[in-house]
Amino acid sequence: MEENILSALPGVLLPWYRENRRELPWRRDREPYHVWLSEIMLQQTRVEAVKGYYTRFLEALPTIEDLANCDDDTLHKLWEGLGYYSRVRNLKKAANQIMKRHGGRFPDTYEEVRALSGIGDYTAGAICSICFDYPTPAVDGNVLRVISRLTEDATPIDLPARKKEVSQLLAAVYPAEAGDFTQALMELGATLCGPNWKPRCQECPCAQFCGGAIHGAAEQFPVKLPKKGKKEEDRTVFILSCDGKYALQKRPNKGLLAGLWQFPNVSGKLDTPKALAAVEELGLRPRDILRIVERKHIFTHIRWEMRGIYLEVAECAGDFTWMTAEEIEASAALPTAFRQFWEETDHV
Ligand code: SF4
Repeated sequence: MEENILSALPGVLLPWYRENRRELPWRRDREPYHVWLSEIMLQQTRVEAVKGYYTRFLEALPTIEDLANCDDDTLHKLWEGLGYYSRVRNLKKAANQIMKRHGGRFPDTYEEVRALSGIGDYTAGAICSICFDYPTPAVDGNVLRVISRLTEDATPIDLPARKKEVSQLLAAVYPAEAGDFTQALMELGATLCGPNWKPRCQECPCAQFCGGAIHGAAEQFPVKLPKKGKKEEDRTVFILSCDGKYALQKRPNKGLLAGLWQFPNVSGKLDTPKALAAVEELGLRPRDILRIVERKHIFTHIRWEMRGIYLEVAECAGDFTWMTAEEIEASAALPTAFRQFWEETDHV
């Protein structure tokens, strides 16, 4: 049953895709560097948000060699605001692997592509099908949702075994125009059969044979495993200013937000006396508390409840890098968790 439905897909999806595809900057060519960059940027990130980043990144680093040689601060700045910064660190690592292992030329076998840092089954499948027309499916949450609805399969899509199974079923029906087919499936999941709205079955080329549409049950799929709760952590963030400069520090090179800039911060939500004492412990003399704001930031597994304390201090002292607003804007990549406090200063 599943096989019959899936084998009907290329015949209807390819013409539909060619007629309806959105013009996106990364669809202008099939250059592996471009496709790779776009696929990494699009992980967990909306298409609209990626467009500007993609164009700026390639203007700054037009070749794999440029990426391999780029310093970390410039790289983080190009990625600032996109989140999940391990993605860009892996991009650079993989660029270096391409320089060393393949003489700077992007590899063209699935195994070699899959062996690069930061490239999993999905990304390797996408690159190899889009750039080389190999029958290598790219199965992510979008594709799993579409297949679940088409086949009314109630297996939870978060199970790794289901991903593997769908990948094998799709590989068996891949047409010669593999790149277009991969993108057609992605496009269907992004435009007509999306995650957060009622699927637009009346416009869908698959409606004739889609089990979910025929039985009016599309919205019951996909089935997911119950979500685990996120760990919560309180933090106090100090936005310390002195003579037009702000105190920043680099995060450690390992762990959450590795190697990025941050405002000094400590665990817990401190009240005013404790906050002033904490600032003195940092080797600074507090003057006025200018403002206190409450914000939150949600990572994949953790949620920070944050209290931002804007404070003027007497000297640019302590173990910090003191930067002007212009320097912060030009060269310090502040992840969104901290940038939201920066955006409430007068300098943005
Ligand atoms: S017919 Fe509806 S449910 Fe089925 S694939 Fe198309 S949009 Fe999704």
